[in-house]
Amino acid sequence: MYKEKQKKFWDKVKEKRFGRLGKVFKTEDHYYFYDTGTGKVAQFKLKVYLVMKYLLEEGSYESLFSLPMTQKDILAAVDEILLGIEEYNLLSAPEVQTLTGDAVVNLSEILESSINSVTLEVTEKCNLRCKYCIYHSSHPDHREFGYKHMSWDIAKRAIDFLKAHSLKVETPYIGFYGGEPLINFKLIQKCIEYAKEIFGEKITFSLTTNATLVTEKIAKFLFENNTNVIISLDGPKGIHDENRITAYGQGSYESTVNGAQKLLDAAEKLGKKESIIFNVVVFGEDYHQRYDQIQSFFGQEKWLPENIQMMISNADYGPIESKYFPPSSKEDKEMMANLYSPLFTWDAKKRKSSKKKEQLISELDMDKAMKKIHKRRLLEKPLTEYGMNGCCVPGERRIYVNVEGDFFHCEKVGNIPSIGNVHIGLDERKIKKLYVDEYIQEAVKYCKDCWAINLCSLCYIGCYDANGKNFAYRHDWCRNERKYSENALARYYSILEKNPEALEKYNNMEVS
Ligand code: SF4
Ligand code: SF4
Repeated sequence: MYKEKQKKFWDKVKEKRFGRLGKVFKTEDHYYFYDTGTGKVAQFKLKVYLVMKYLLEEGSYESLFSLPMTQKDILAAVDEILLGIEEYNLLSAPEVQTLTGDAVVNLSEILESSINSVTLEVTEKCNLRCKYCIYHSSHPDHREFGYKHMSWDIAKRAIDFLKAHSLKVETPYIGFYGGEPLINFKLIQKCIEYAKEIFGEKITFSLTTNATLVTEKIAKFLFENNTNVIISLDGPKGIHDENRITAYGQGSYESTVNGAQKLLDAAEKLGKKESIIFNVVVFGEDYHQRYDQIQSFFGQEKWLPENIQMMISNADYGPIESKYFPPSSKEDKEMMANLYSPLFTWDAKKRKSSKKKEQLISELDMDKAMKKIHKRRLLEKPLTEYGMNGCCVPGERRIYVNVEGDFFHCEKVGNIPSIGNVHIGLDERKIKKLYVDEYIQEAVKYCKDCWAINLCSLCYIGCYDANGKNFAYRHDWCRNERKYSENALARYYSILEKNPEALEKYNNMEVS
């Protein structure tokens, strides 16, 4: 009987793609295994961890006995793994045949009445020329810097579309984006007044701005009208002005701070401090040094209130085609070895060395990573269906409306086939063909071999270009996503070992 079980196991290891069944990871003190099928995490002794790591990464057992361990220890570790399979259903994730989710089973219904928001590109114009901007020619996946404004007719049609298709949404919202949206403040004002007329008080707004054009009047108007404001500020003057410059090459730090102060004053007066969030983009070399400088800046500048919210991200370098290598293949291992996540390592270092409890600039991003692990699906038996990675139902979460009135999934997807426009609405047939059926058909080719399939947050970004799907852009993202998931698992279990109460806050947080 035992022999039979063992044989079955060896056959499984011999099967191609054993590595898709899970991932080993470690914290400072312990060794773990994450199981793809059930989402369970098992703690292992070092020797079991080493045997499991070998099997998952090499996908063969022929040279297992060449591990620097006694044969007895290796066999004892294998026994423990067999026990995990038998008692806890580990290493049993079924083959990935297809992907599914709301976009497959509920598309028509969602597009009819569950649209959450529209983001209006109120103008293509911008008064800055930030060096990492997606509208530079270095980003062929987005439009170039432009000069068109959105017309009132297009904006009104988009708002009416949201009104007609958000019947099941409790708090719909409208976003304003550009260019620099405040260049067309008149249109924003008109949109807000009109939306309030047709939606009543339940509608909210958001605006992403470089803040250089903010006046007291604008600031007051925004917070009197339920607007969340995202201010782009990269940190201290030296860092900010390195990249965030005008068309004439001058830094924009003073004007941004000036506008940000007006926004903070107005928000303070109207009790809306939580409606402001700073967006910090890090670009250049030596990330850790930059994070340190940004941390000191947000902690020490007198005009910035304590505990202000901030998001930090690394600049987007534009689409890069790369080759697909199956996870754990020789080439994949080489590429993975060169990946590192500066924010995770900086955050860990900072928490260890910092004596006082301060709010770190990495807080929101770390929360996002921890939520992903905390809220993962945890099952007794392996799931039988796999989701469409982190893809939204196109149109549901938001519809990005460009100045011409074309619809896209969001402002991040760039120059890819549209999903409709203000005249015909959402094009359900096109969405289903291009962004559901064709997406699944292509994604399965890669996701079937990937241990991160049930943690993955990758979406349509990076797998389409103007002509349709192009997954060559995504292979690098996949390697980064696997690294990110591994880092998140290690960080989560490290907190769980030392300070489990700190994870309770994720009980009530939604995964976005
Ligand atoms: S970021 Fe991805 S998942 Fe989110 S709205 Fe855009 S396309 Fe959809
Ligand atoms: S990381 Fe890539 S291959 Fe893995 S599940 Fe996500 S999209 Fe698929």
